[in-house]
Order: sequence, then C-alpha cells, then structure tokens
Amino acid sequence: MDLKGKVSLITGGTKGIGAATAILFAQRGADVAIVARNVQDDCALETQRRIVALGRRCLMFGADMGNAEDATTCVERTIAEMGGVDVLVHSAGGLVTGGLLEVTAKNWYAAFDVHVHAVFHLCRAVIPAMKKKREGAIILISSSAGKRAIRSNIAYQAVKGALPHITRGLAYEFADDNIRVNCVAPGVIRTPFHDAMPAAVKENNLKNRIPLHREGTAEQVASLIREMTENDYLTGETFSIDGGLTMRIC
Ligand code: NAP
Repeated sequence: MDLKGKVSLITGGTKGIGAATAILFAQRGADVAIVARNVQDDCALETQRRIVALGRRCLMFGADMGNAEDATTCVERTIAEMGGVDVLVHSAGGLVTGGLLEVTAKNWYAAFDVHVHAVFHLCRAVIPAMKKKREGAIILISSSAGKRAIRSNIAYQAVKGALPHITRGLAYEFADDNIRVNCVAPGVIRTPFHDAMPAAVKENNLKNRIPLHREGTAEQVASLIREMTENDYLTGETFSIDGGLTMRIC
C-alpha cells in the first residue's frame, strides 16, 4: 500500500511507538488521526504539531480504548471527518503487573479491554469501510511477553499472547477483501512505557538478557510497522523486534 494520500488511525498515537508511527506515516504522505486519553499534554501537542508541519492533516481524539463506545466512535469520527480509514494501528495500552494472586480482577479485565476487546470494537467499526474500498491494513502490537513467559505479570502476557493469533484469524477471514492484518512484537523499547522500570531491571536487561545489549527505539518499531503496512504481500504475520531477546534459550 502506498501511504501517500491515505488515512491512518493510530491509537496510542500521542507517545512512544504510536507517535513515532504517526510521524513516519505523515512523512510518507498519509493523513493521521491519533487517539489517547490525554490529548492536551505536551507529547500529544508536539506529535500533532510535527504531523501538521509535514503538511498532513492530523485529528486528535481524547478517548479511552478500554471503552467499547469510545473505540467505535473514534473510527466513526475518522471516517466522517477524514473520508475513510485505510490503515489502523492499535498501539494504545500499558503494562499490567502482578502475578495471578496479586493482579486484581479489575486490572485483569481492564488489560483485556484496552489490548484485546478494543481490537474487536475497532475492527468491527473499520473493516466494513475497508471492505468497500477493497483495501486496508491493520497492525496490532503484541510483545516479547506474548511469546515467552515472564514471572509475575500474567494479565499482560495473556493479552499480548492473544494478539498474534487474532492477527492470523483476521488476516485469513479478510484476505479475500484485500485487507491485510499483521502484528509486531517489540522487546524492550525506550518509550514513556518504560519510565517506571527500576534501574536494576534495566541494567540486567542490557547486560544479560538482550543479545544486542541495547534497547530499541520507537522509530525502529515504527519503521517495521511502516514496512508491514506498505508491503502488499504480507499478511497474518507477527514480527519480533527485540534485539534478539526472544530468539535465545539461555
Ligand atoms: P507509551 O509510550 O506509554 O504510549 C502509550 C500510548 O497509548 C500513549 O499515547 C497513551 O496515551 C495511550 N494509551 C494508553 N492507554 C490508553 C487507553 N486506555 N486508551 C487510549 N489510549 C491509551 O507506550 P509504548 O511503549 O509506545 O507502547 C505502545 C504499545 O506497545 C503498547 O501496547 C505496549 O504494550 C506495546 N509494547 C511496548 C513495549 C516497550 O518496550 N515500550 C514493548 C512491547 C510492547 P494516554 O496515556 O494519554 O492515554
């Protein structure tokens, strides 16, 4: 898919991986709608400013992707105000910590709401428009934690583990409509998501766990998302981008 003149909807597009993707898509000539709960903070306004400076339209919606109505509404508003949605990237979400006996039921359900149920609501709203155009690309964001076990954050692993298989199911279901669905599985990426990570954990990651001994950047993940969006022969895949974190056994 040539992104020039296309409309993309990027949830979580104000910060981190979503913001880097929004800016890269704008550089490739796409208009961008970005969604987050806080659209008045400095990151959100700076992302919007950079997209507009590239000469592209940028709509910004304050919405909670853990809420079904918000998810549906942001697709409907993008279609109404920008004339369609050619690309959906669902990057909204955050870490949910705690093992089975620690995580609250509320946090468990909230994790499924923003990471998994949002995919259901966003895709149900966006796919009819893509079917009509006979073209569309959807990118979901899984994680290394969806491929390999981590001690004591079971809800996050559960939601991230679901996404690659949802990707395959949707890709197969809508291949006849020329709608491609792919997924990226980042490892440790330097974004606000990781601000809360204790220094000792960061040090251990770099020293002992990541074969390339460095964190990734949001721009590197955005570049993979761009390739998955533009490459018309790619569907149903989940690509890791993790400096080798999940390739190794010890
Ligand atoms: P980030 O820098 O914290 O950005 C998260 C974005 O999502 C922000 O724009 C945030 O804005 C938005 N968001 C969070 N919860 C939301 C909600 N309920 N409704 C709407 N927007 C919401 O995180 P990131 O590192 O870019 O992570 C993006 C995705 O990659 C997430 O799914 C994360 O699990 C995944 N991932 C990240 C890493 C990593 O190392 N960074 C690794 C593997 C996977 P507001 O807070 O204003 O809503």
